[in-house]
Amino acid sequence: MPSPIGHAIGAVAAALPAAGRESPVRWRAMVWLAAFGMAPDLDLLFGRHSMETHSVGAAVIAAALAAWCRLPVAATRARVFVATLLAWLSHPLFDALGTDTSEPIGVMLLWPFSSEHVAFVPVFDAVSRRYWLPGFVERTMLAIARELVILAPLLLASWWWTGRRGSALRRGQS
Ligand SMILES: [Zn+2]
Repeated sequence: MPSPIGHAIGAVAAALPAAGRESPVRWRAMVWLAAFGMAPDLDLLFGRHSMETHSVGAAVIAAALAAWCRLPVAATRARVFVATLLAWLSHPLFDALGTDTSEPIGVMLLWPFSSEHVAFVPVFDAVSRRYWLPGFVERTMLAIARELVILAPLLLASWWWTGRRGSALRRGQS
């Protein structure tokens, strides 16, 4: 599974075009989207890691709450819903694309429809939480570097595309 940094970058990259440039404050929107991208791992606190929070069902619930509270992520409720849904969903998808070393392998992606764990081809290195093992810092740094190489271009593309569409919209209005 990717690190929290990888999840934050991936969530913003996935959700920014849906939030749109006309979102209230783009930086604040990005912080919220990054938080949504990292939030599923809060399940570590209650011992159900990679289960219900890592699923389509949890993403829909979280996005519905965000839309209901009108989180300052996008200009309309519908956009808040779609953007936070994508941000949350990016987390289990990236986890399913990560090297997993602990059983059960993968995440409960399709909950509540299925409790089966799903894993795809590993693209990201495993980020271990066993900080006491030798080589922990080196391995974590390498894994994060790999995530940055894969995800930073996606974030830049997403930022560029959102900006371009925003200026096209403004040109259309004037
Ligand atoms: Zn996770």
